[in-house]
Amino acid sequence: MNQKLTIALTKGRILKETLPLLRAAGLSPVEDIDMSRKLLFETEHPDIRLVILRGSDVPTYVRHGAADLGVVGKDMLLEFGADGLYEPLDLGIARCRLMTAGFPDREPVQGRIRVASKFVHVAQSHYASRGVQAEIIKLYGAMELAPLMDLADEIVDVVDTGNTLRANGMAPLEHIADISTRLIVNKAAMRTRHGVIEGAIAAISDAIGSGETR
Ligand code: AMP
Repeated sequence: MNQKLTIALTKGRILKETLPLLRAAGLSPVEDIDMSRKLLFETEHPDIRLVILRGSDVPTYVRHGAADLGVVGKDMLLEFGADGLYEPLDLGIARCRLMTAGFPDREPVQGRIRVASKFVHVAQSHYASRGVQAEIIKLYGAMELAPLMDLADEIVDVVDTGNTLRANGMAPLEHIADISTRLIVNKAAMRTRHGVIEGAIAAISDAIGSGETR
């Protein structure tokens, strides 16, 4: 028998907003993901299973074919690349913006600007495209802390309401990209498992269109 089709989901905020879409598409997990420590879940579809990952790992699993499809933020695709992947659907969820941010009234930086981010590649190419010399400092969380502690002059982060920035005396400065959650597909799997993948894409696309989930 053929192996099941595997969809890699991004845990956290994106997972919460993905589950209603999967339900409308007939792809609900058969167990409550929140109540389990498991990472692999069967769905109500006999040929499709789910795996729950960090967003930064979803493109890797799908690129290598360990998962056939993935649900991941565009920010992760911009940072980690989309080689070997198709991006057939914008799920329209977890919308936000990739921005630079900092103290609005700060003196201009002399020399290289220090930028803290987990989006190292995005930050590097943004400042390079503006002809600004930047030293990028890799962080894994709480980017807002870096300017407060004088680790960095600016940060590159995803911003939704901007409340977190404002609460820390900062403001969004430059817009880099609009972000939303995308469905991605392994290019080789798209050829070899075309029928079942097209079926899953169509079901998820109909679920987005139905508006039942929002
Ligand atoms: P905000 O609403 O701008 O205060 O965002 C709250 C926190 O959640 C910030 O630290 C953001 O980095 C993060 N955040 C906002 N929107 C998203 C999203 N769509 N995906 C992941 N993280 C987000």
